[in-house]
Amino acid sequence: MWRIFTTVFDIKTHTPIVEHALSSLGYDFTRFEVNDFVQHVADRRQRPILIRETTLPVAWFGMWIQQATTDFVFIQTGLHPVQHIHSVLHEVAHMVLRHSGDDLSTILDPQLLASLGMNGGKGHLRAAGRSRTLKDQEAELFVYRLQNRVMQAERLSELFGDPTSIDELKDYMDGMDFTH
Ligand SMILES: [Zn+2]
Repeated sequence: MWRIFTTVFDIKTHTPIVEHALSSLGYDFTRFEVNDFVQHVADRRQRPILIRETTLPVAWFGMWIQQATTDFVFIQTGLHPVQHIHSVLHEVAHMVLRHSGDDLSTILDPQLLASLGMNGGKGHLRAAGRSRTLKDQEAELFVYRLQNRVMQAERLSELFGDPTSIDELKDYMDGMDFTH
């Protein structure tokens, strides 16, 4: 008999984990606003989260880099606002889900890390065409479940702007090899 350790993402297994993580934040989604939410997570973790846009290699969306006392999130410049928010929430999801980071020196060019002012560290990178890890899929599920709560709280415009921006986003996504 084979004992099978699959890497297939099982939504049934991960949904309760993600829902528990969302609930244990104790966040009031009726006041949802992206920056407010990120601040709430930073407060809960008692670690500041610093987010900034920067020019990253082509087809990269964002990454999370853990330093000694602070979590840094770098987001590709010029993303569609909806994709920008999604990228921020994806990286914050890794934090909330207590994902251990990968050693970034094995993923990133040391010069790039240095140019970002980072001193090694662990974290996650989200980029088009990069194979999805289970942690990435769990982070994506977190964003999806968060969207659900935001929708129930009638705060969806905080994520997607006005309804016309959805069509705009579709055109944008179609023009992109986004496989995540
Ligand atoms: Zn990720």
